[in-house]
Amino acid sequence: MSANGIAAVAESYQKFNPRAYLQNNYMPPRANFTSEEFAVPWKLRCLADAFATGEICGRTLIDIGTGPTIYQLLSACDYFEEIVATDYLEVNRAEIQNWVLGEDSSCFDWSPYIQYTCKIEGNGEPWKEKEQKLKKKLRRILPIDVHQAKPLGSSLSQPADALVSAFCLEAVSPDRPSFDRALRNVTTLLKPGGHFLMIGALDESFYLAGEAKLSVVPVSEADVKESFAKSGYRTRNFCSYVMPPSLKIGVDDVQGIFFIHAQKIA
Ligand code: SAM
Repeated sequence: MSANGIAAVAESYQKFNPRAYLQNNYMPPRANFTSEEFAVPWKLRCLADAFATGEICGRTLIDIGTGPTIYQLLSACDYFEEIVATDYLEVNRAEIQNWVLGEDSSCFDWSPYIQYTCKIEGNGEPWKEKEQKLKKKLRRILPIDVHQAKPLGSSLSQPADALVSAFCLEAVSPDRPSFDRALRNVTTLLKPGGHFLMIGALDESFYLAGEAKLSVVPVSEADVKESFAKSGYRTRNFCSYVMPPSLKIGVDDVQGIFFIHAQKIA
């Protein structure tokens, strides 16, 4: 059952349009930086606060299912020597590569995100410096399939010190058992005692990205906590956000967003 479901998900992603996805989720009204009542500043705040503890650090951070976005890496970049971006689709890996190289003038403009992150971190860091720092640390952009027992194949020689993942596992899993299996698969990439910061959709069944309509497995707060516990994590922090009516704009049926900081039991 799951194998057919996974093949159907892979098929549906062939039509994923990165530009439409960015437009739907990373432009106004969702990307409104005037208040943390809006979705994007809420996510940036969760990440900034988690990294500000100084506890999540090391040599390598892997972002699972980076997609065409880099906002989820902005607060991480002071704490790791290398940040590895990953995605299943070549179009998304190319979007990140273009941003890193900075040679394509049609690239998505992440500058409001970088400026806002510098502001909430409160260290007086000039935003251009953060931008350059992240570009330098993003040396590898790798193919990944979270449904494989070894999601990165043989690309990784040592487990990572930490993982980040945003809106990936629930958006690529046809049902709860495959979500749990995907979580166990990516957990093999993390060293014992390592930290996992995950952001995701609550109670969502679909989202749009251009012509693609992607199915999402609806998960509740309790489901997420249970999945992490079953995969050998201790939950360190959990927060949720209720999607306000003004941000229900017809591009998905998401009801809210969760943020979990979990630590792999050593
Ligand atoms: N992380 C980004 C964000 O925060 O907006 C993108 C999330 S997007 C909803 C889901 C991502 O999962 C897409 O970039 C898609 O290409 C990727 N994906 C699809 N199938 C996958 C798979 N089997 N393994 C890993 N990633 C996959």
